[in-house]
Amino acid sequence: MIKKGIGRQIVMHYFIVIFLALMLVEVVFLFAIRAYYYDTIYNMISSHIDVTVRSALISTSAGDYGEMEYLTQILSLLKLPDAELQILNSTGDVLISSSGFRADKPVQTSDIPQALASGNTAKWIGRQATTGEPVMAVTTTLQPGGGQVYLARFVTSIEKVNQRLLEITFVSMSIIVGIMVIVLIVSIGLANSIVKPINNIIAVSAQMAKGRFDVRVEGDYRYELGEMGSTLNYMAEEIVRSNQIKDDFVSSISHELRTPLTSIKGWSETLDSGGYDPDETRIGMGIISKETERLIGLVEELLDFSKLQQNEMKLTMTHVELKELLKEIVLNVWAKAELKKVHLRLEADEESFAVYGDANRLKQVFLNIVDNAIKFSHENSVIVLHMTREEGWVRTAVQDQGIGIDEENLKRVKDRFFQVNTQGGGTGLGLAITQQLVELHEGELDMTSELGVGTTVSVKLPLLEAQEVKTELPAPQPDSTEDV
Ligand code: ADP
Repeated sequence: MIKKGIGRQIVMHYFIVIFLALMLVEVVFLFAIRAYYYDTIYNMISSHIDVTVRSALISTSAGDYGEMEYLTQILSLLKLPDAELQILNSTGDVLISSSGFRADKPVQTSDIPQALASGNTAKWIGRQATTGEPVMAVTTTLQPGGGQVYLARFVTSIEKVNQRLLEITFVSMSIIVGIMVIVLIVSIGLANSIVKPINNIIAVSAQMAKGRFDVRVEGDYRYELGEMGSTLNYMAEEIVRSNQIKDDFVSSISHELRTPLTSIKGWSETLDSGGYDPDETRIGMGIISKETERLIGLVEELLDFSKLQQNEMKLTMTHVELKELLKEIVLNVWAKAELKKVHLRLEADEESFAVYGDANRLKQVFLNIVDNAIKFSHENSVIVLHMTREEGWVRTAVQDQGIGIDEENLKRVKDRFFQVNTQGGGTGLGLAITQQLVELHEGELDMTSELGVGTTVSVKLPLLEAQEVKTELPAPQPDSTEDV
């Protein structure tokens, strides 16, 4: 017994459809073969009638003899081996018969009235009233010299033919049973080939639902089932990966929080322990303030990220002069770059690049990129901020000569919480936030990098003139290069 489910449905549907189709073919076949056998007998008798009746009517005439003599003559001329010939009058009474048997009652089968009505040959298939034997009767009218109408009725047994038809039915039904057994075996095999992988996939996904992401769908399944298995495996790998990223994030964020908190706690205890040396107090308060600022920055980054995730980031869109904004950023990070002995250079192909955006958020975008560039640059290297126009766009490339990123990590640096090296501080959210902010400005962020050579992060933003065609912008200026 096949278990309830898809398997049983497949087997049942296959079985029923093929069984019905075969039965239909069988019925048509049996009808055709039966018709063929019966037609053969009928054609044989009717062609005998065609040949003999005409000659019988020509060679004999009722006027030449008495009726009985005439009918005997006709009987001997028309008779056919293996068939009884009866001569009847128009009411169906048997006047004479080749078997010598004369029924008391008139023959009342349908071939009599049909032959009389059509004046032609008619057929009847049924059982002999007296013997119960299956017979075929073929009747034709005789009207010698346009006188009285007689009927010549050939009655032949079709028992042997019926026996043959029964044998054929039996053989063809056996073939059908054989085919159905094969269909059953094949459909069970087919059902299993679908149901087994599905059951396996269900078992694996049930394990995954319980949190076991190390299990995988094994087996080389084909078509959609193969795809289903590999998608499930891929999902598990992604979950494992994002769990890993989340764990890394938790550990890095704890570290990021603990460092300033330890410092704040240490200094506040030192200051509290008395002495109140003014110099010491100033240094301590400075550190406390710096660390608090760091903590605020960290929390803000997390808040921004969560806002972006929930699509709750609201932009205050205005006309922004991007070159001015970049100059401001360069000034902002100046001290940090100085500390690391990194030289910053701003280059622009044109004087003005006006975009429509949120000035604070755009500042955040470029601050993060330039901050990373300084963080990962070597001492005495140069960072170039280059602005170019590209048919309705402004591209700002921040190019450093720092440590660079290898190909594998480059694919993932924009993922949230991803850091190439967790020791360097940060949350791994900077580029993820930056990317989303650029996208909110309908721009694009690209990164190219070579390990040990440097990294270029470029941000493409739509120019205001392309967004509002009516806005008139100052005519392009000759190339200008500024060192800051
Ligand atoms: P974080 O806040 O940790 O800096 P980001 O998302 O800004 O996070 O950066 C993700 C990672 O990408 C960094 O940890 C760093 O490894 C790498 N990265 C980003 N910018 C640069 C760069 N200019 N040069 C080398 N590595 C970089």
